[in-house]
Order: sequence, then C-alpha cells, then structure tokens
Amino acid sequence: MSEVRAVRNLRICSKDCLCLYVCPTGATDTETGQIDFSKCIGCGACSKACPSGAISMVPYQYPKQQTKDDLVIAKLNKLIQSKVEQEQMAEYIYKNSNDSIEKQLAKAIIRANRLMTEDLYREAGFMLPQSKNTKDFLKNLLQQTKDETLKKDIEKLIDLLDFNE
Ligand code: SF4
Ligand code: SF4
Repeated sequence: MSEVRAVRNLRICSKDCLCLYVCPTGATDTETGQIDFSKCIGCGACSKACPSGAISMVPYQYPKQQTKDDLVIAKLNKLIQSKVEQEQMAEYIYKNSNDSIEKQLAKAIIRANRLMTEDLYREAGFMLPQSKNTKDFLKNLLQQTKDETLKKDIEKLIDLLDFNE
C-alpha cells in the first residue's frame, strides 16, 4: 500500500475534472467530490494535474508528535519571550503615536504576536485557559471547594488570567 493518499479540498475545487481524466484507477469522483481511498494508489497524478491546487497528497500515518524535552521547551520559551517583547514595543507605539496608519500597523503587530505567542505556548505543552468556559469552571470550583489553600490559588488564577470575554 502507498504511504500517501490524495485528499481534495472541495472549497477550492473548480470541478474541471482534470483529476478524473488522469487518475489511473478511477479513484476520484468529481460528482460526489470524494476520493475513494480503497482505489487510490497514491501516484499523485491528480495532484499534479489539478489547476486549482485542490488536491494534496497526505500520509496515511503522521509522524509521532515531537517530544517536549527540556531543550525544545527552552527554545520555545526564548521565542515566546521575543514575541512578547515585540508585542510590548508595538503596544508602546500604539499608545504613543498620533499617526493613524502607524497605530493601525502597531495594532496588527500586537495581534499577530499575541497569536504566535499563544501557538508557541500550546506547542510548548501549555494551554492558555482564556475562554469563558475556563472562567466559569474556575468560579464553579471556587464555590465547591472547602480547601482554603486551593481557594486562594483559584482566586489568584482568576485574578491573573486575562480572559477573552
Ligand atoms: S482537477 Fe482539481 S479543480 Fe479540477 S475537479 Fe479535480 S480537484 Fe477539482
Ligand atoms: S493519487 Fe493517483 S490514484 Fe489516487 S486519486 Fe490521485 S490520480 Fe488517482
């Protein structure tokens, strides 16, 4: 069995059927939009022929996720730090500039860096609990727990976290 198979992105498929003509096994059906994995031999002809770039060859088995060893986390933390610094610089410009275009650009940089930082945190094995669900969960936990130390920790967490309302 081939190690890859063809997958069609229906959102960009323009239905010109080139994939249908080049497929040696009849695996691709442009009527239903499906590619029959039991017939696909992973030759890649459809992907090369597709003018819209709608077909990707994807592996049957994805490689194992990279282990989060200390070196990887240290590197990710460095990257996170640089993204945070860039966000702070952009924030400074945003607050102090009188130029509307400069402000707009600074805002875009703030958002982009924030998103990249969040991705890096996730990649480093941390979740950012910023959702309303998390806040509700913590408040619920606070009401139910009788452990005073835990209560203090939860309160601290609620104060610390910058929730996206
Ligand atoms: S060749 Fe590409 S664009 Fe044309 S039908 Fe096939 S997947 Fe869609
Ligand atoms: S990879 Fe080859 S066999 Fe599979 S759908 Fe595309 S053309 Fe057909």
